[in-house]
Amino acid sequence: MLKFDILTLFPEAFNECLNLLPIKRALEKGLIEINFTNIRDFAIDKRGTVDDKTYGGGVGMLIRPEPIFEAVDSILKTTPSNITTKNKKIVLLSPRGEKFTQKKAREYEKLDHIIFICGRYEGIDARVEKHLADDVISIGDFVLSGGELPTMVIMEAVTRLIPGVLEKEDAVIFESFSKDLEEKGKSIEYPQYTRPEEYRGLKVPETLLSGNHKEIEKWRANNI
Ligand code: SAM
Repeated sequence: MLKFDILTLFPEAFNECLNLLPIKRALEKGLIEINFTNIRDFAIDKRGTVDDKTYGGGVGMLIRPEPIFEAVDSILKTTPSNITTKNKKIVLLSPRGEKFTQKKAREYEKLDHIIFICGRYEGIDARVEKHLADDVISIGDFVLSGGELPTMVIMEAVTRLIPGVLEKEDAVIFESFSKDLEEKGKSIEYPQYTRPEEYRGLKVPETLLSGNHKEIEKWRANNI
């Protein structure tokens, strides 16, 4: 079972994602567990302060290190002893990070525990990246307002790889960026068609209707 812990200022942002496949099915089958920790619960004062101005000047506010370090400590205190540093990762979401890929998703699927740290505002004090995070991950070269959507993206990509989550498990073996395609030196799946054979004058390639499996394989290999 893969346990996800999510540190966020907005746990409610995840409501819809929990009701969508594959996350919903994985939760129902007990293949994953998702816990939320509100960073605000580790605020530095009774007013709920978690952020502050940046040293050296700059626009906007940064999340201070204390709420993040303390929230992670509190999660680790309750982590079962069989989860070691080897099968656990603390993942900080940041546009500065390593680009998330299907290869990374396969690596994460093998873990027992992933702690996601979602930034907000101008981001998080750099000590979190330097001294707490195992991985710093970006979902692309653009800037979002928080780490919640990137966490949902990663969680979904990882969860659908867990055996037993998808009804048709072969779906993850033969798809874009799969290991199978990678080994063939390819990365993108071939184009696929369904009924009707013709729509608005647009026809399904004849080879795919031929029933000739050899030719179909050849067509697919040529159209990746
Ligand atoms: N000041 C930061 C910069 O220029 O790199 C941007 C901070 S962004 C407004 C706030 C938070 O959103 C980040 O701390 C991070 O957690 C998340 N975030 C934004 N874009 C992201 C991306 N492409 N990948 C992963 N996380 C992202």
